[in-house]
Amino acid sequence: MYKTILVPIDIAHLEKSKNIIEVALEHAAPDSRIVLLNVVEDIPNWAAIELPAGFHEKSMEEAKEKLQEIAAASGRDMDAEVRTGHGYSTIMEFADELHPDLIVIASHRPGLKDRLLGSTASRVVRHADCSVLVVR
Ligand code: ADP
Repeated sequence: MYKTILVPIDIAHLEKSKNIIEVALEHAAPDSRIVLLNVVEDIPNWAAIELPAGFHEKSMEEAKEKLQEIAAASGRDMDAEVRTGHGYSTIMEFADELHPDLIVIASHRPGLKDRLLGSTASRVVRHADCSVLVVR
């Protein structure tokens, strides 16, 4: 069993999230900490001026709500974290803070069956300091 499990969740492709959560739960003890993380892409200034005021803040709030819904549906206590940045690098920065002993991640977005490993998943596998469980 693992003590601290980090579960990065892509809000744009939630179909796989149920699977990843189930796998995380299978590897958690009753007192393990499970942290759901979504990274909301940072919007460059040139693009941000085209968007309505508060767009980024609203995206972050919506992401937090989604993660909380997922946690509530699992019936178990989980933390929900939303960070701004760029997929892989922000997941790794967060992992450096959290020091998980397991990261559970989906292999790629749903539908891309011929893809061995998505870009985020493959970089997390290569660079994480801890065990990484890739859910296909
Ligand atoms: P693809 O390249 O097919 O989109 P990815 O490797 O990017 O595949 O995504 C696989 C998994 O990586 C997702 O299911 C999720 O677990 C994680 N992931 C991808 N993007 C994000 C994100 N913005 N925030 C949190 N996790 C993410």
